[in-house]
Amino acid sequence: MLGQLEFDGLTVLVVGAAAAARRARAWVEVAGGTPLVVPSAGAVTLLTASPDRVDLVVWVQGPRRHHDQVRRLARGARLPVTTAPAAGPRGRVTLVGGGPGHPDLVTVAGRDALALADVVLHDRLGPRERLGALAPGAELVDVGKTPGHHAVPQREIERLLVERALGGAHVVRLKGGDPFVFGRGSEEVQACRAAGVPVTVVPGVTSAVAVPGAAGIPVTHRGLSRSFTVVSGHVPFDEEEYAHLRGVGGTLVILMGVATLTQVTAGLLRAGMDACMPLALVERGFLPGQRTTVSTVGAVASRGGVPAATSPAVVVVGEVVRLAGADGAAALAASVGGLP
Ligand code: SAH
Repeated sequence: MLGQLEFDGLTVLVVGAAAAARRARAWVEVAGGTPLVVPSAGAVTLLTASPDRVDLVVWVQGPRRHHDQVRRLARGARLPVTTAPAAGPRGRVTLVGGGPGHPDLVTVAGRDALALADVVLHDRLGPRERLGALAPGAELVDVGKTPGHHAVPQREIERLLVERALGGAHVVRLKGGDPFVFGRGSEEVQACRAAGVPVTVVPGVTSAVAVPGAAGIPVTHRGLSRSFTVVSGHVPFDEEEYAHLRGVGGTLVILMGVATLTQVTAGLLRAGMDACMPLALVERGFLPGQRTTVSTVGAVASRGGVPAATSPAVVVVGEVVRLAGADGAAALAASVGGLP
């Protein structure tokens, strides 16, 4: 299989153009070589003028006469020539949005992709339980990230995706929620495209909407909220951003917001938000130990966050929090003016 070739330290002349050559360039790089990609006419010129610039020639595509010339010139310069199959290896990547973590919330398209996977690269979030049954026969690779600690760096994940697909595998990249919501899914799509690897994306149930729902909180409700804004709380906002967030009015949904909750609630208050604005923290939505804490923005800011809150959790700020399920509503009643 081409993906298992070793080109360590070699300069490889890749002869051809367009997608096939892009794919060949990627597998030369993956195999440790330095690709020099030129159309077939250019390859003839290069091999005539300075054959010593390359160690190996890979023929991808071009007219017959160039093919014969390239072979003759390479033979004269004692350069090995190899041919890439016209279609290349048949690997591909499917990015699957796995939902918030419960296997029942993987879409039918996501299940189908998993069932046909040779390799699954999965995260800490997303449906890990029953993965063996959903992807029977697939090699399961944990590239999981925990907050502040990237088990496998993003570039390395992208390299792995491309490498395995170029080796001929159907690679499923299983991500928590939806791949395009704070999931770096688009970077992975770009990496595949740059390497000429076919890539498709299966959308997923995003925690931004589903996790508040798990606590009985709708992100919109006629008469209460007609918009919802989803933000990453990974780093706190600046004053202008707090003013905008407060100004939009509707529901504010914060992902990755546990660590910065005190700063963000304080910022919203500085921007003029009512201290009595309801706030909910929903931890481990759809997972064992799901927990909802209902409070207010003022209480959370003054008490320095929500006690013992842990990630993953979604923070919801807005009037819709009043609609939280029975336990949440009771907690709200108890917490007005302070944490329960
Ligand atoms: N792409 C994902 C979000 C990735 S960012 C999506 O669309 O859902 C990771 C953040 O998602 C976590 O910090 C947390 O805020 C949220 N999250 C994901 N799954 C969750 C769950 N089961 N319960 C609570 N929050 C969750």
